[in-house]
Amino acid sequence: MTSITYDDLGPFKIIEVYEPSINLRGTLVVDNVARGPSIGGVRMAPDVSTQECFRLARAMTLKNAAADLPHGGGKSVLYGDPAMPPKQKEELIRGFACALAEVEQYIFGPDMGTDERCMGWVRDEIGRAVGLPRELGGIPLDEIGATGWGLLHATRVACEFQQRELAGARVAVQGFGAVGKHAARFLAAEGAIIVAAADIRGTVSCPDGLDVGKLLALKEAGGNVIDYPAGPGVTTGDAESIIDVPCDIWIPAARPDVIREDNVDRLRTSMVVSGANIPMTLGAEKRLHERGVLCIPDFIANAGGVICAAMEYQGASEAAAMQTIEEKLTYNVRRVLDIVRKENCLPRQAAQDMAARRVRRAMALRRWSLF
Ligand code: NAD
Repeated sequence: MTSITYDDLGPFKIIEVYEPSINLRGTLVVDNVARGPSIGGVRMAPDVSTQECFRLARAMTLKNAAADLPHGGGKSVLYGDPAMPPKQKEELIRGFACALAEVEQYIFGPDMGTDERCMGWVRDEIGRAVGLPRELGGIPLDEIGATGWGLLHATRVACEFQQRELAGARVAVQGFGAVGKHAARFLAAEGAIIVAAADIRGTVSCPDGLDVGKLLALKEAGGNVIDYPAGPGVTTGDAESIIDVPCDIWIPAARPDVIREDNVDRLRTSMVVSGANIPMTLGAEKRLHERGVLCIPDFIANAGGVICAAMEYQGASEAAAMQTIEEKLTYNVRRVLDIVRKENCLPRQAAQDMAARRVRRAMALRRWSLF
């Protein structure tokens, strides 16, 4: 059963697409475009739903506003196994793009089950896509570490707030993929000590610090972080054991809901900077707040990727995109932490209020409130 909550922010449009000749079924939700055309990814999976699409579209409205981008929020879902034969996948993506060609308030982006190649097909059909291959003017945000770069700047501001030095701070990074490995690389370059890293196969830790170059080389060669060479202080454990590693900064960059009410008290850190989307339950986040652990929420801290995509859409260079990520993350995390300092509220609440205020201010300048 589809249940959508309509409120003053949206959703503005919900479009269901169906074309039986190619077994195409999909949904687009354009939540709010008061700040500009919406940007949001196309998620492809067999079990997506209109409800999920709406939740993700609303999250994009807030994320894009929190990043202070001239874009609203939207999202689309396509029913199907993303590992289907490439020809069939291409037909579906091209068909979906054509069906939505006239919805100019939505710019396609990659998400789970879709990638830059898919965005190339969308661009070929309707000209409106971000996250493009380099050959089509795209900025390869995972390759350059756009989200990890944003996490560095979010962490730097959070350290200022806690009056601690980033250089010498002990960092644990859960997930060593596109987000986690670059976050580790950028943080280590600023003098932070990476005391633990985990991927799906396990955790490696060392209180004196791991050599990030060696970890990156292992992943590059298709290995896992637990293949790290043995040495004094180096220990390995299962993937979950990174939760127990004492550190100053804990960076989730893997899966949703890894920190919950039942394991949150195992965390021994002063700060969590979220690279992954919804890595913690709200209850766990509240518990950390009560314990005085500072949590920089996902949709503020991991906005580097979407900022990079928006810059690509404007035709900006890679260097300009990185510069903008640094400026926006620094400014936005400072704004959120100013509110936290004044109101002693959850950083997530402060960030959501700030984003919603920005959307409502834009709506007040429009003839119609939502478009
Ligand atoms: P990825 O697939 O490149 O990497 C994920 C990493 O997590 C891998 O190293 C994998 O082994 C590890 N992992 C998976 N399950 C694990 C577990 N149980 N314990 C420890 N490690 C585990 O993905 P990514 O692009 O780095 O994205 C990571 C998270 O960040 C996702 O939640 C994604 O939605 C979010 N995110 C990504 C971007 C981006 O720019 N790529 C932007 C914003 C948010």
